Amino acid sequence: MGRTLVLNRSFRAVAVADWRRAVTLVYMGLAEALDDDLTPYDFAAWVAASSNWIEVPAGFVQSPTMRFAVPEVIRLVRYDRIPHREVAFTRHNVFARDRYKCAYCGKRKPSDELDLDHVIPRSRDGANEWTNIVTSCRPCNLKKADRLPDEAGMPLKNRPERPRWSLMGSLVPHPRAHIPDSWKKLLTQETKAAGEGRVSQ
Ligand SMILES: [Zn+2]
Repeated sequence: MGRTLVLNRSFRAVAVADWRRAVTLVYMGLAEALDDDLTPYDFAAWVAASSNWIEVPAGFVQSPTMRFAVPEVIRLVRYDRIPHREVAFTRHNVFARDRYKCAYCGKRKPSDELDLDHVIPRSRDGANEWTNIVTSCRPCNLKKADRLPDEAGMPLKNRPERPRWSLMGSLVPHPRAHIPDSWKKLLTQETKAAGEGRVSQ
């Protein structure tokens, strides 16, 4: 099973979602599923309609209690973009946010040679949160010790921020990816061009 084209309220293609995410958005009432004629369905109506279909391009989700078609196209009804999912605050995600580079010297290292550093040290009540934690190599971490970057003469290369990643990758599928027929009429020239330019959020 593949992916679902996501339209905004104005029927403009804004993203491509993993089918699970697409189904979740419909289930939560944040999006409606669209059939080939762009007729909208809420989740219950979609499940009911699916029971009459024998074959659908994107396949069926089957559970012990229900079976329904994976929508090839959905339309957001409350937002113009797919709502962001919170990024978990973990060691790995801090490294990923900082692209595995030390915030002080800028060197890129494998994760087993990196530490998390509190910009405002814990000993001074520095918080354990996205905006106070950066990736640091061991030597920089040792050198900075319990000091502020200014005191240590080690300015930050970037201000740490809470990441705003979404589940979406590029705006439209990779140019070489197969584009389902149902999407073709919905992808404007502009959107196609953006996809080729690999526009991402
Ligand atoms: Zn360093």
